[in-house]
Amino acid sequence: MATAPPLETVGFTFSPQPPSYEEAMSSPYPPGFVQPPPAFSKPEQGPYPVQPYGPPTTGQVVSVQTVYVQPRVVFGSQPVQTHCPGCMQMVLTRLEHNTGTMTWLTCAGLFIFGCFYGCCLIPFCVDDLKDVTHQCPNCSTVLGTYKRL
Ligand SMILES: [Zn+2]
Repeated sequence: MATAPPLETVGFTFSPQPPSYEEAMSSPYPPGFVQPPPAFSKPEQGPYPVQPYGPPTTGQVVSVQTVYVQPRVVFGSQPVQTHCPGCMQMVLTRLEHNTGTMTWLTCAGLFIFGCFYGCCLIPFCVDDLKDVTHQCPNCSTVLGTYKRL
């Protein structure tokens, strides 16, 4: 006795096509009829087209970073409030006075005009004649410098 494979499995998985699929794909309009685009334009939104950002993107992912775009900070002889890239905080810069060109020129000028005995070293004690380095008070990152000359 040969046991034939059950033939019922061929027709077992057969499921009739859902009639709604064919009807859904076929346009309710007769062939050749151009379906008018749906009118989504709202006259209340003005003449500007509603568009998210610039030209339409082609599926590329634009990574958005939180970047502080602040006006250019002018580092002077006074502390300025700026954003520190080191600790990512708004800080008031700490000043550090360093000997700069202005200090040496003033020293040389005083020396030429007769201030020999130590008086020409006065500029090295005057902060207004020194260059200023702006540092972050938290992480000591140099945020900018101000040079007298
Ligand atoms: Zn910092």
